[in-house]
Amino acid sequence: MIIGIDLGTTNSLVAVWKDGKSQLVPNGLGEMLTPSCVSLDEDGSVLVGKAAKERLQTHPERTASVFKRYMGSDKKVRLGERDFRAEELSAFVLKSLKADAEAFLGEPVTEAVITVPAYFSDAQRKATRTAGVLAGLKVERLLNEPSAAALAYGMHQLDSESRFLVFDLGGGTFDVSILELFEGVMEVRASAGDNYLGGEDVTSAIVDLFFQRNKLDSSLRNNPMFMQRLGASAEAAKRALSGGQQASVQIQLDGNDLLLEIDEEVLDKLCAPLLKRMREPVERALRDTNIRAHELDSIVLAGGATRMPVVRRLVTMMFGRFPTAEINPDEVVAMGAAVQAGLKMKDAALEEVVMTDVAPYSLGVAVSVRLADGKSSDGHFSPVIERNTAVPVSRVGHYHAVDPRQSYVLLRIYQGESRLVKDNILLGQLEVPLPQDGEKAVDVRFTYDVNGLLEVRANVDKSTESHVLIIEGNPGMLSDAEIKQRFIELEKIKMHPRDTLEMRTLLARADRIYQQVRGDLRNWLGMQITEFEAVLETQNPRLINPARSKFSDMLNSIESDSHLHSDFDPQPN
Ligand code: AMP
Repeated sequence: MIIGIDLGTTNSLVAVWKDGKSQLVPNGLGEMLTPSCVSLDEDGSVLVGKAAKERLQTHPERTASVFKRYMGSDKKVRLGERDFRAEELSAFVLKSLKADAEAFLGEPVTEAVITVPAYFSDAQRKATRTAGVLAGLKVERLLNEPSAAALAYGMHQLDSESRFLVFDLGGGTFDVSILELFEGVMEVRASAGDNYLGGEDVTSAIVDLFFQRNKLDSSLRNNPMFMQRLGASAEAAKRALSGGQQASVQIQLDGNDLLLEIDEEVLDKLCAPLLKRMREPVERALRDTNIRAHELDSIVLAGGATRMPVVRRLVTMMFGRFPTAEINPDEVVAMGAAVQAGLKMKDAALEEVVMTDVAPYSLGVAVSVRLADGKSSDGHFSPVIERNTAVPVSRVGHYHAVDPRQSYVLLRIYQGESRLVKDNILLGQLEVPLPQDGEKAVDVRFTYDVNGLLEVRANVDKSTESHVLIIEGNPGMLSDAEIKQRFIELEKIKMHPRDTLEMRTLLARADRIYQQVRGDLRNWLGMQITEFEAVLETQNPRLINPARSKFSDMLNSIESDSHLHSDFDPQPN
């Protein structure tokens, strides 16, 4: 069985293709959304999901979130005494989702389709595949998130003919894809996006405004506990504004109440520069397909941040119509990943469905150009594969040595759209020896597969020798040997047992609330936690089950009385 995974910046989901349809898989808490958070528990085991999210505030030095933003880089995140790369943290999330799928299906799972932002680079894609390997999963396919959303959406109308645009704004990334659906063939015509734009930027903008309005010193940003609490309160206010008109961010600092009131107007202003950045990819995708906004049949929303009214208004304004909200935007990508898994398994219900995708950015090499006065100018970009070419694709570029005395050429491979390579992204380089005599030229073959992974081969003219680009030494990527080593290391770290996760999550939540309240309520809550722990130690389900419900209701009631998920001062009576 191949499973479909949406590995998101803020939340991750797993779904399976079963009984002729996509089905979401619940996690150990019975929920579909698993927060992409990882925490190292005091007993050395790894907590993933809601329990880890609760610990972001109580144990920030042992907990990590939004690490998808570091995929493809060598940035490390310290949890306790150990450093982890983004691939490793993602691997913990994948392991947890794999265990959920195994519990749901009642069989071992070893293969997965994992979604990535369409605009993810080669290094980011390879890091995602590595995360899968580290989690013990063979990654059957990396699928672009908007293409996954389109697959889920298209399943509802396979017999119709339509053109639609997927507007996918997640926690950390923004993608746009334009697709055409015709007789069961779903063709991505163009993708564009921004890898560093998402709902988390809105939360950060609220945090910045909080600092500004309360005249806080920027050194407070180095206080992880304060920043996590502020972040959580800003996130709650942002979500509240998706349903209401007013919200506040409230935090206690050294006995003082700090406050920021936000209404729709303030939020709109904060979002204005972010919304501006969303226009460019939309316009580029339309331009590349030669389709006008009014010629689209529908606009499909994906990603949690499209719940924001200000984003929906932008979409409505840009396209002159309301977006469709047929499928839950949080779930649509995972549902599509499961369709792709079904396609991979050649499920009979999907016989008529075909999906084609594109390379979202141009790929090429750095060249020197000769000017009219005979001088040469370095650092120009020569595209070999143009953006939005259907994949898989293989193209050859033919290049000459600048100087006939040259004994080798250094091929530098870039991705991007700029005229000068300094403004594009360097993917790697390849040194190709040239023959002593004969033509000093090389053929460079770029092969871009359906996963969005690139292979570059160079052939010196009239020789059969071929040089394959191996982007080793790129700090953002692990070699095969390093992956093997890290797999062994990660195997030694135990995941928290799934069957006790619910209790662990409840206790993590209680700890967070305990740290937030003060006075009598705090003392009282401390006693309740100790008593609940004593019941858990009995290991007697007849005692534990009613105590758990009571404990959970009690936490709900404290949080709803406190009107905010941040600091508050109970009124002693
Ligand atoms: P995703 O990566 O698709 O899970 O998107 C998560 C992003 O959506 C995060 O930045 C969330 O803060 C944001 N989000 C989820 N629900 C809402 C909501 N109701 N209102 C505003 N933003 C939301």
